[in-house]
Amino acid sequence: MESRIIVEGLPFRPYITREQIKSKIRVIADQLRNELHGSKPLFLCVLNGAFVFAADLLRAIGLNDCKIQFVKYSSYEGTQSTGNVKQILGLNEDVEGKDLIIIEDIVDTGLTAEKMVADLKTKNPRSIRFVTLLHKPENAKNNFKPDYVAFTIPSKFIIGYGLDLDGKARNLEDIYIAEEE
Ligand code: IMP
Ligand code: MG
Repeated sequence: MESRIIVEGLPFRPYITREQIKSKIRVIADQLRNELHGSKPLFLCVLNGAFVFAADLLRAIGLNDCKIQFVKYSSYEGTQSTGNVKQILGLNEDVEGKDLIIIEDIVDTGLTAEKMVADLKTKNPRSIRFVTLLHKPENAKNNFKPDYVAFTIPSKFIIGYGLDLDGKARNLEDIYIAEEE
């Protein structure tokens, strides 16, 4: 693993190695495989950040009768009356009666996660599970609790393994944390 790196002028240090990620993924994958046995689940990979985690997790789970959709939770300026509206984009599969597994990169305030689960519930799936690579519980602004968390981390900025700083560093194989100046 490389040591200290600079991204967009900011220093980061190695924080979680690819080996640590891999072994946590194995644990979560085993659990999901057992729970979803006999189901035909639909995985929802939340773009952009979760693409790396989802690719590794889904291959580790190894179910052969499952589907994967890539969704994006985007906000756009609504009219004055509707305010700032958030919407799930890319969900073109009927989710009614399905076992859904949302795959996220990070739960920070928890606001996005809570809204996404609430929106999906209105579509009457059989179940919803929420998996996240990272969780920053110190930043929580609600009571949202992800069902599966690979790593609980302090309230610091993280990059790598899908997570970005201004679109950069998603391709790093390990996770880095912002260094104290
Ligand atoms: P929230 O839980 O609604 O605050 O939304 C979490 C979103 O904020 C994630 O999907 C990321 O896009 C972004 N985010 C939060 N913390 C970090 C971080 O440490 N690194 C990179 N992106 C982050
Ligand atoms: Mg994200």
